[in-house]
Amino acid sequence: MKKILIANRGEIASRIIETCQKMQIETIAIYSDADQDLPYVKAADYSFRIGEAPVAKSYLLADDILDLAVREGADAIHPGYGFLSENSEFVKKTEQRGLVFIGPPSSVIEKMGDKVTARKTMQEAGIPVVPGSGFAIGTVDEAAVIAERIGYPVMLKASGGGGGIGMQLLESREDLEKVFVSAKTRAKAYFGNDEVFLEKYISESRHIEVQIFGDDHGHAVHLFERECSVQRRNQKVIEEAPSPSISEETRRNICGAAVKAALHVGYRNAGTVEFIMDEKEQFYFLEMNTRLQVEHRVTEMITSLDLVKWQILAADGKVLPLSQSEIRKLGHALEFRIYAEDPVRFIPSPGKLNAFTYPEHADFVLDRTYEEGNQITPFYDPLIAKAVVYGENRDKALEKASEVFENVRIEGVKSNVPLFSKIVKDDVFKSGQYNTSYLQQSKIVG
Ligand code: ADP
Ligand code: ADP
Ligand code: MG
Repeated sequence: MKKILIANRGEIASRIIETCQKMQIETIAIYSDADQDLPYVKAADYSFRIGEAPVAKSYLLADDILDLAVREGADAIHPGYGFLSENSEFVKKTEQRGLVFIGPPSSVIEKMGDKVTARKTMQEAGIPVVPGSGFAIGTVDEAAVIAERIGYPVMLKASGGGGGIGMQLLESREDLEKVFVSAKTRAKAYFGNDEVFLEKYISESRHIEVQIFGDDHGHAVHLFERECSVQRRNQKVIEEAPSPSISEETRRNICGAAVKAALHVGYRNAGTVEFIMDEKEQFYFLEMNTRLQVEHRVTEMITSLDLVKWQILAADGKVLPLSQSEIRKLGHALEFRIYAEDPVRFIPSPGKLNAFTYPEHADFVLDRTYEEGNQITPFYDPLIAKAVVYGENRDKALEKASEVFENVRIEGVKSNVPLFSKIVKDDVFKSGQYNTSYLQQSKIVG
């Protein structure tokens, strides 16, 4: 591979460029009118305007993106995360144009891309799934019967949902009647798919996910788990690896289940199997993300591997660089997603980033979307940057994080950095014994 077009924006585009430069692969970036001054546009070897700021008029214009790739002589498309990354039609179109898609084959995305189909596929593979409806639900009456059978509280979820969008916690039949029809309408509007289904709500739960990788030669491996239980609005804010709270036995079992899932679907390239775990360390399949995950850096830090490089090699038909027994972990890493948002109410805070400075440290990486002077627009996820720290153990990594956050300065927009400064010193967080309701405690959020 000599030239890759990155069908994405922001920090993930910069991250892909970083590896391409090391591999002496040229990069083509695309940008919308809102993004022309962003760091990734300057970092790429070539960059082209793709359209207006709304995603439907730029980053989702599959045909325009592929036309550009062909015209500019790209060999492959890296989709990053979000946008077109889990769109099997886009994968097919990419291949029809004679380009390599850096990700799994479209057939695998079809099996795992929507949550209803993925749940069925995983049940066939013998992986425990969250108790729930095994199919998309058509009417509110049907939903009521199923919810009764599962037992409230239940989660009503969009089959095509992602990024924490498209799910609602329901305590009673009244709740269900209030939201069912609008949930379907919203799912259609957001994800182009009005399928919804029900799941048992697992209380006091933790989100544990496993990084997996497959190649064209029948190999599938895991790169250990990540703990992602610090969330707001069902979206991750802090992720760490390894999980601070699971037993060695659970680690073996959950990583084993993820590899079994990967082998069952003939998985290729990078993927993540997400599980929800109850207080007894019983875990259930939630969904699979058939792409590079936002929080892949924490896995890279504890394994000393470059997952983007692995993605490019796997897409190029190479054998995975390491076998399972050669993949080792060492130390501890945490990622903090720095958002332009109110740190108490979690409402986006777009605006001009008048100041953005941060310290330089060994074992600290900042993957940024924006730099000082950029305008943070309301069109995309308001992620300013990801701060990722490494330490020889969790305590050392947390000390480093604490030092970092004392020296991060952001002006012009609100950010959640003040919240991170508190969390890294909080006894509950430091103990590692937290679950997905952690940020609902008023004590820490303030
Ligand atoms: P991860 O699962 O990698 O931790 P998130 O769930 O936070 O990441 O989502 C990754 C990015 O992709 C976010 O910018 C999110 O808004 C976006 N995203 C994920 N799924 C969808 C989807 N189905 N539709 C639109 N955007 C999505
Ligand atoms: P998305 O596609 O938006 O990432 P997920 O199905 O992965 O959606 O769920 C995101 C988060 O929502 C989980 O990490 C968890 O905190 C919460 N969640 C989802 N399903 C359940 C459930 N059945 N019980 C409890 N919490 C859940
Ligand atoms: Mg998820």
